[in-house]
Amino acid sequence: MSSRPAHDLLSRIFGYDEFRGPQQAIVEHVAAGNDALVLMPTGGGKSLCYQVPSLLRDGTGIVISPLIALMQDQVEALRQLGVRAEYLNSTLDGETAARVERELLAGELDMLYVAPERLLTGRFLSLLSRSRIALFAIDEAHCVSQWGHDFRPEYRQLTVLHERWPDVPRIALTATADPPTQREIAERLDLTNAQHFVSSFDRPNIRYTVVQKDNAKRQLLDFLKVHRQEAGIVYCMSRRKVEETAEFLCKEGMNALPYHAGLPAEVRAANQRRFLREDGIVMCATIAFGMGIDKPDVRFVAHTDLPKSMEGYYQETGRAGRDGEPAEAWLCYGLGDVVLLKQMIEQSEAGEDRKTLERSKLDHLLGYCESMQCRRQVLLAGFGETYPQPCGNCDNCLLPPDAWDASVAAQKALSCVYRSGQRFGVGHLIDILRGGDNEKVRQFGHTELSTYGIGKDLDARSWRSVFRQLVASSLLEVDSSAYGGLRLTDGSREVLKGQRKVMMRRETPKAARERDRSGQ
Ligand code: ADP
Ligand code: ZN
Repeated sequence: MSSRPAHDLLSRIFGYDEFRGPQQAIVEHVAAGNDALVLMPTGGGKSLCYQVPSLLRDGTGIVISPLIALMQDQVEALRQLGVRAEYLNSTLDGETAARVERELLAGELDMLYVAPERLLTGRFLSLLSRSRIALFAIDEAHCVSQWGHDFRPEYRQLTVLHERWPDVPRIALTATADPPTQREIAERLDLTNAQHFVSSFDRPNIRYTVVQKDNAKRQLLDFLKVHRQEAGIVYCMSRRKVEETAEFLCKEGMNALPYHAGLPAEVRAANQRRFLREDGIVMCATIAFGMGIDKPDVRFVAHTDLPKSMEGYYQETGRAGRDGEPAEAWLCYGLGDVVLLKQMIEQSEAGEDRKTLERSKLDHLLGYCESMQCRRQVLLAGFGETYPQPCGNCDNCLLPPDAWDASVAAQKALSCVYRSGQRFGVGHLIDILRGGDNEKVRQFGHTELSTYGIGKDLDARSWRSVFRQLVASSLLEVDSSAYGGLRLTDGSREVLKGQRKVMMRRETPKAARERDRSGQ
């Protein structure tokens, strides 16, 4: 049986009884000398997919990885299993690097991990051409995607491997789930003819929850109370907010640490180490934190701001529950987040194509946030995967939201936008609707508008929710100016004419009760 040697190796060296999911098919495919593109969620077991074939084939398996820390961990782990593994990156002194190079040439290495910039040097390529290579593994292959936040320009040049060593199999791996990025990886790495192995991206043990932001700090605190003494990550949009949040949580008696690219390298490394080694640390971080962090018992990932895309959200939340035990992904978002992200796209210098792509990415994310359907279904649908039944493990499944017919409220809101000249932000619009009597309302003569005071039936918070949902579903658009004024869209005209019904999500009764109790 062809799988025999692979299987023997798996149990003899790695101590596992069985391959998991598609691992065996991938291993056999690559060991037989074929190219593969592997899409597997974090924790799915990508490493074995190239480690086993590296050992099965003659020569050294060359693993290209952008993550220096991870490289060292993996090499360390392999050595403990008796595998002759080494790495080459900027942290090595010249003497050690020279020894590793000699061992490569002498055929004494099973595997060699190398950073892409190192691999691409003329010196290293020439070394490779004098060595025997079992395979090339390109880890974190989404780094080749220009539009992802992990873009590494050197990844673009990795096609040189195929040009110079057409007979050496290549295996590219990523936990990136969205189809456009997958296509881009295949094209950029010259892997369109490779077999693609796509695993399900579902992470059944992660419970997804989205809450409407009204007092983010208190909401975060309430969420963390459920996770006392547990390790988790709190993602924030900016460095400043990372520090504020960490400080705030410490004051509240929690073991919180900050992490962002603006901190000195020693502080970052120390905080990361504590997160990995100690129990119950809450890491407050920007998205600079997390890639390659292999901590199995992260029990929650909280976002206090809207992430940039669904793909990013999936990656970030994927760091929770790698051990398979229950974990939570919690997202707190509000109108301000939507306005900010929409403005960032409109104001960016990017070309129209790129903006169109970013808009559609943001819409997918907003669709997820506003959905009244099972979150998992929405999440996976965006990655081209159908999840047949509601999952029973997300907020919408566990506590189904109320929907209400908001057509009349939407008409009031939209006509208020129209009457006031399509240039004001939400705060002012709500003042008009609720018949507020303040300086700005009087100054613009807005007490005279026909929409003045027609919205007293809803409180300000409910109006904010109405406006947020209108913006999220593109029934209103955000001005690209700095003021965030709102304008009508083609869709809003249909609503105004009564041609389109608008159903909205009512914040859950439970959430409302909690808020009332706290007097917010
Ligand atoms: P990824 O790189 O996809 O995030 P890893 O390769 O780090 O995942 O594997 C995740 C965890 O699963 C590791 O602890 C690994 O040892 C374990 N694992 C992988 N394959 C198997 C298997 N066939 N049997 C048991 N454990 C496995
Ligand atoms: Zn669900």
